[in-house]
Amino acid sequence: MSLKNLITKEILKSGPITIARFMEYCLYHENYGYYASKKNTIGAEGDFITSPEISQVFGELIGIWLAQTWIDRGKPKNFSLVELGPGNGIMMRDILHAIRKIPGCLDAASIVLVEKSQILRSRQKNLLIHYSPSWIESVDDIPEKPFFLVANEFLDALPIRQFKKENDFWCERSVGLTDTGELKFINIPSNLNIELNYLYRDIPNNVIVETSDITKNILSRIFEKIARNSGVCLFIDYGYLEGQGETLQAVHKHSYANPLDNLGESDLTAQVNFKSIYNLILRKGLRASNFENQRNFLTGLGIKNRSEILTKKMSKVQKKDHLKAIDRLIGPNQMGNLFKVMGVTNRGSPKLPILEQ
Ligand code: SAH
Repeated sequence: MSLKNLITKEILKSGPITIARFMEYCLYHENYGYYASKKNTIGAEGDFITSPEISQVFGELIGIWLAQTWIDRGKPKNFSLVELGPGNGIMMRDILHAIRKIPGCLDAASIVLVEKSQILRSRQKNLLIHYSPSWIESVDDIPEKPFFLVANEFLDALPIRQFKKENDFWCERSVGLTDTGELKFINIPSNLNIELNYLYRDIPNNVIVETSDITKNILSRIFEKIARNSGVCLFIDYGYLEGQGETLQAVHKHSYANPLDNLGESDLTAQVNFKSIYNLILRKGLRASNFENQRNFLTGLGIKNRSEILTKKMSKVQKKDHLKAIDRLIGPNQMGNLFKVMGVTNRGSPKLPILEQ
């Protein structure tokens, strides 16, 4: 069996599948899914590189931001430090490296890692074992106590659905089969016509709208926990606040690929629809921060100073690489503008550093 056979079998049995179902197969299938892969998927040798993998400074600054929110909230003595989708575990390592220096902070923290992939869990274990983290698969298992949560490039990995109005009738972009049994994208009439008309009344014909049930589901449960226990979330991802459009993308060995090729071997992502997350935050009675870009956020946290201090101990070659890495994180044409940062916390609690000042 291969992923293509499994998907074909399901389509033959029950008809075209949603993009979300297709992404579930390709990302999470227990044998053939991308995150089940034994190869190193994230990092310089993988298919894509993320900010924590580019420079330790990234995770350290996130650690300082989290520690500041902890101090501002009266230094709760027993809290969870939660990461969603920690990948290779590098960001949590660097966060802990930074908060170790803040008196009382590390002692008060229990590290909780929300991770589906067994192979990534074992990578995380190698890096973080000294901090005795616990692993959970569902956000329902985040303990009922104050928590400080961070997620970098987690939301973009969650399955989405795509809808498009054709001649004033909504269709769902799905995956079906050609006459010769190859996978193809196909639009099929949606049975959500009334809901979609209500939600996206002003969207013209032929524009794709993306929704993510799993994102809403996961975030609703997290936000309800914040409302009950108090807490802070920091989301960093590529995404948009306004507008619509098709953003599903496949990346294979650092190049864009057709999502229907190399099943289970490409990283499939979609840009995060932050507007729908803002709506959810309001509905749950919480407070969202400004929507900031990564460049301003990291600059506000002092990336330039921190970077300069590190260069003092570096050789010429190391310094050149280091400065290139910093530019990659904050350069306006690199990740600086594309990546966005959003914080969430309880109404009436202290302002979030950088994002609410
Ligand atoms: N945050 C890391 C990795 C990003 S890749 C970094 O910045 O390098 C996405 C991560 O989210 C992987 O660890 C993947 O296994 C995990 N993941 C994706 N969907 C998940 C889900 N539904 N539940 C738990 N973890 C998930």
